[in-house]
Amino acid sequence: MPSSGTTLHTHDLLLGQQVVPYQLLRSKRRSIGFLINDHGLRITAPNWVSQAEIHSAIISKQRWILEKLQARKERIAQPAMAPAAIADGSVLPFLGLPVTLQVRYGKSSHFDEKTATIVLNLPADASQEKIQKHLLLWLMNQARRRFSERLPLFAAQLGVQYHSFSLSNATTRWGSCNSQGKIRLNWRLIHYAPHLIDYVLVHELAHLREMNHSPRFWATVQSVFPHYATARAELKQQHVGSLPQLHK
Ligand SMILES: [Zn+2]
Repeated sequence: MPSSGTTLHTHDLLLGQQVVPYQLLRSKRRSIGFLINDHGLRITAPNWVSQAEIHSAIISKQRWILEKLQARKERIAQPAMAPAAIADGSVLPFLGLPVTLQVRYGKSSHFDEKTATIVLNLPADASQEKIQKHLLLWLMNQARRRFSERLPLFAAQLGVQYHSFSLSNATTRWGSCNSQGKIRLNWRLIHYAPHLIDYVLVHELAHLREMNHSPRFWATVQSVFPHYATARAELKQQHVGSLPQLHK
């Protein structure tokens, strides 16, 4: 949601055993509102309500909040989705291009750029399940490698330091970043063109300068990724949990 003129602050609150990060939005509304969205918990409160009052409102709502957050977590943790009926000869998107899957025993699994082939090191009679599993792990590895190469570059350009990154299997979001500098990135991004991956990395890193989507945040993104708006629009057309539509 575009937030012009409003400021979002990220806070942490301990609910039971769980640290629950939440974003606080001050507004002219008359009561405290709760929302669970792609960024987690968001609370909207009137300007005149104190932090202590907000906390007691959260605590009185904690059951609802924890249940909702849990439900969201479960949705995200759904089994990793591999392309249906993947087998030798299947075509799938990799870094934004259609590539052919080849099952060949011998050399370690790799991507052959010349022939646009992902070669999986498996016996010819490997079961479909095995092929899918192997492919998934391989793709995740590629994603991890790419993220770990690109993140430091953009972090340096933005002048930020992140704590760590991990792969996510979310079906609702491409990435996230918390105030501790822990970044989560969707491994499925590896299906997409390099500039789209870079955009997500820059977006999450830029949150280390601005924990919101204010004009200042977008200016930060733009400072290292001038064409962010096109990349953002392209990604918006995609469903996170499914394979990208390849544009020819
Ligand atoms: Zn964001």
